[in-house]
Amino acid sequence: EAKSQGAGPQLFNEGIGGAFSRKLRLERELRFAAERGELQLVYQPQVGVESGRLEGMESLLRWRHPELGAISPSEFIPIAEETGLIREIGSWVLGEACKQLGAWSRRARTVPAIAVNLSGKQFMAPDLAETFRGIVRDAGCDPHQIVLEITESFGIVDMDSVIGVLRELKGMGFRVAIDDFGKGYSALGYLKQLPIDILKIDKSFLSELTSDPKSDALTRAIIQMAQGMELRVIAEGVETPAQMARLRELRCDIAQGYYIDRPMPAGELEAGYLRSPQR
Ligand code: C2E
Ligand code: CA
Ligand code: CA
Ligand code: CA
Repeated sequence: EAKSQGAGPQLFNEGIGGAFSRKLRLERELRFAAERGELQLVYQPQVGVESGRLEGMESLLRWRHPELGAISPSEFIPIAEETGLIREIGSWVLGEACKQLGAWSRRARTVPAIAVNLSGKQFMAPDLAETFRGIVRDAGCDPHQIVLEITESFGIVDMDSVIGVLRELKGMGFRVAIDDFGKGYSALGYLKQLPIDILKIDKSFLSELTSDPKSDALTRAIIQMAQGMELRVIAEGVETPAQMARLRELRCDIAQGYYIDRPMPAGELEAGYLRSPQR
């Protein structure tokens, strides 16, 4: 197209060409990232708003490329979804979280649950529940220790099959959290239909919680609604003491965000939260 406009080679600009070849390269190399040991899970603490104690943690995937350095999941997860690699990667993530739980439970008195993120694409595999059953069995892991985080966008494709798979997973003991709640076009009907245990308020609400009365009102309403449905509420993206104080007033259950701590390697989380006396 650039050529037909006769604008010369400068239109074939390095930015676009560079981004294009980077994407191709990531697509190609993501395939081998796990077996080359380039993938890693980091863990972000989730603490009780009232108690300050560790109540859980979210695992977040990192890709450390030997030449390109750290690549953000917001860049490589969409590539994994497009190429279908997300299934293998998702299985690796669950297996890794299970192994970590095993290691921690041998060394620490109490180990709270680990949340893992699921992609909608992963969910479309009809054998997801069976795959997960095999992974936890092989790892000797209790599914009650795992929370599966899904987003609302999941249900749009085929609600009935999503509900079916979720029920099966819950039957095995997995708990289910709805992630990024309130982002985009939330259909409240999903909340009624999906068998969930935990609701995570999207961080866009938190960022304006103490500056925008509308965000405050919405956050308050979401917390009340979740409590009425006997769901646990996690506020994510908590960055300031003022936000934390407001969450306390609103009686939110759990907080996650930079104000508490960043996502960190397993060893650091263990040193800071699992071995030392509980804060
Ligand atoms: P998410 O599931 O909503 O995860 C929360 C993101 O917010 C993480 O970004 C986390 O590092 C960041 N975060 C934590 N505290 C704060 C805070 O106080 N303020 C702000 N502004 N951000 C905070 P991260 O690690 O870059 O992950 C981005 C997204 O990539 C995740 O969003 C999730 O959708 C996806 N992702 C990460 N790991 C996995 C995975 O294992 N599987 C799948 N399918 N997706 C993953
Ligand atoms: Ca999440
Ligand atoms: Ca989220
Ligand atoms: Ca998300």
